[in-house]
Order: sequence, then C-alpha cells, then structure tokens
Amino acid sequence: MKRLQWGMIGGGEGSQIGPAHRMGAQADGNFVLAAGALDHDAERGKDYAQRLGVAADRAYGNWQEMLEGEKSREDRVDLVTVATPNSTHFEITKAFLEAGFNVLCEKPMTMSVEEAEEVVKIVEKTGQICAVNYCYSAYPMVREMRNMVAKGEIGQVRLIVTNFSHGHHGDAADADNPRVRWRYDPEMAGVSGQFADCGIHAMHMASFIAGDEVRSLSADFASTIGSRELEDDAMVNFRMENGTVGRLWTSSVAVGRQHGFEIQVFGETGGMKWFAEQPNQIMYTPLGGRTQIIEKGEGGLSDEAARLSRVAIAHPEGFPMAVANIYVDLAAAIRGEAHGAFPSATDGLRSIAAVHQAVASAKADGAWLDARPPMFR
Ligand code: NAD
Repeated sequence: MKRLQWGMIGGGEGSQIGPAHRMGAQADGNFVLAAGALDHDAERGKDYAQRLGVAADRAYGNWQEMLEGEKSREDRVDLVTVATPNSTHFEITKAFLEAGFNVLCEKPMTMSVEEAEEVVKIVEKTGQICAVNYCYSAYPMVREMRNMVAKGEIGQVRLIVTNFSHGHHGDAADADNPRVRWRYDPEMAGVSGQFADCGIHAMHMASFIAGDEVRSLSADFASTIGSRELEDDAMVNFRMENGTVGRLWTSSVAVGRQHGFEIQVFGETGGMKWFAEQPNQIMYTPLGGRTQIIEKGEGGLSDEAARLSRVAIAHPEGFPMAVANIYVDLAAAIRGEAHGAFPSATDGLRSIAAVHQAVASAKADGAWLDARPPMFR
C-alpha cells in the first residue's frame, strides 16, 4: 500500500515530543516524513528536516511557507502534525484545516474555549480530520480497560481516581530557568499551568475509559513556589454525566515522582488500576476476589488491545508506540478504511473548557461549575 505523505510543524531537534511523533508516524509504514517546518529558527529547521530525509524544496523555514508550498502540490501532505508550543496551535491548525489538510494537533488544542469551538465548527463544515494527541488513551491496556468497562466487567463505574503528578519543577532554585518559568507565566502558558499541561491528559483518560463526559467540577489550585503566577499543583473534583465521581490530582512539585500518571476505576463489581510507568499491566480486582494482573499480549484480551500491540508478551512497547497507535487509526481514516477511535477536536474543546472552568472555580474558592463547553450545554 502506498505510504501517506506526512508533514510536521515544530518538533525540531532537541524538542521533547518531536521524536515520539517521528517514531510513531513511521512505525507501521503508513506515513513518510515528506515536509516540515520543524523549528522556530528557519535554518535549523531546514537543516534538520533534510537530515531526516525531507527533500530540500519541502524543508520549509516556517509554517506559512509550508502552507503555501504544500497547497499547490499534487502530492501535498495527507496529514500535518502540529507540535509547536501551545500558543501557536490554534492559528496553525485553523490555517491548515481551512486549506483542506488533515491535522493532528498537540494538546492543548487551543488557548481559549472560543478558539476550540471555532476549530470544531471548521471540522464540521469541511469534513477534514482534526485529532488531538491524547496519546495515553492509545496504550493497548488502556483500550482494554475501556473495553472492560463497556462490557460491564466492573459494573456501573462509581468512582475514578487519577493522578498525573511529577516532581520535575519542584526545585525552587531552578524556577527562573527559562525552560521551566514559561509554563507558569500567563503570557506564555495561558490561564493554567499544571492542569492545562498534565491534568487534561488525566481528565481525558477518565472520560475515555468510562465512555462518559465530565459535566461539572470544583478545583483547588496552588502555586507552591511563590514566584509562580500559575498553579503548579491542582486538585480537581468532578462529576460525570451519569453521576460517576472523579478525583484528579496533578502536580509538578511532587519530588520523587517521575512521570506519575495513574488511573484507578472503581465499579460496583470490581476495580482496576493502570500506571503509565508500567503500561503493559492492569491490576484488576473483582469484588470479593483476589487482585489479578492482566498483561498485554496474553490470550483473551479485547480485539482492540490485541490490534494495537506489536511485540510479544512481556516486551515493552512504550510511549512512542502509543503515539503510533494514534497514527494507525489516522492513516485508516485518511484512506477511508474502517478504523478505531482517536481523540478528536471535540475532545480538545472539552478539555480547554474544563481548564477555563477549573481556573474560575479555583478563583471562587472551589465553587462547583459546569465543565461543558458552552456549545454542548
Ligand atoms: P519543546 O520546547 O521541547 O519543542 C518545541 C519545538 O517547536 C522546538 O523544536 C521549536 O524550535 C519548535 N517551534 C517553536 N515555535 C515554532 C514555530 N512557530 N514553527 C515551527 N516550529 C516551532 O516543546 P515540547 O515539549 O516538544 O512541546 C511541544 C508541544 O507538545 C506542546 O504543545 C506540548 O504541550 C505538547 N506535548 C505533548 C505531550 C503529550 O504527551 N501529548 C508531551 C510533551 C509535549
């Protein structure tokens, strides 16, 4: 089958997320990196793109040049990934969607709710694909948990407890380091620090596994390092549409925690736990029974978990292959083939609406607020 043409904006040399996209997009032979505007420094971006195999005339100095260059080509890119800093996501995503390209945007999709609603409306109007990279939801064993909930294996979900808490910004002496400081500066990061950066992955995961949406929330935000304007720690309580209770803790000052993303789902007849640092396993406890380990690659897993696993039992695949799973379904969708779910612009909208409402709640001493985007109320 012919490979799809793939373009990337941001994710330049030394970036955090760029390599996971390049490994993920190209892991299964679906996409070839054909074009890129990879860096805020035009020359660095062009040079790196060519070292990655992009032809010189498709190694662009910036995204505007890439848009113009690709628009007029017969073999224009089939998918554009936006992996630049947050404040640029909206204008780049909007411009490419309106020019008829499919987009995979990094999270958060936009800075404001209004912008996110605009993206959703563009997608509805144009029919282009716009996905958002909530890649943790594409781990095989997360798909297994979603499947177990859908099959009623733990009964009605009563409670979801999730943490995305690390300690990598916990050093007060390093708080002025420019690579750290921008995340807590509203000029650069927007209305929220840690919740918008990591907490929204956890909230998306809760919705994804439960097959339900967050309806209301109450938040407590703290800036534990005094020089920070935005929160570096947040506790968000929420309720889902069907009444499920949610408790979400996210932090960047939890010294000793590394990646720190875990989720526990408690139902009427059982409980489950998944931890991103041991992503091959689900701990499952049926009501009144013993705790069992369900392992990626073992017999009897759902078709979805099996479909998204590549290597045999007990071998780790890890984060870039979770990203690859997003690309597997995007490739199928672009080719018009049957495909599984991938996080959409609507998920991106729900997240940014929850971020803004969490900020408002925290300012109002934890008042309970409607978490839904205005267009879904
Ligand atoms: P980074 O600072 O490490 O890298 C950003 C890259 O974008 C750099 O190469 C920079 O030169 C380039 N860039 C900046 N402005 C640009 C522009 N206008 N045009 C082209 N390139 C430009 O950042 P990062 O940590 O890789 O984060 C990038 C995005 O990915 C953020 O939105 C972040 O939230 C998201 N992210 C998502 C995950 C996830 O799990 N889904 C994980 C990490 C980061």
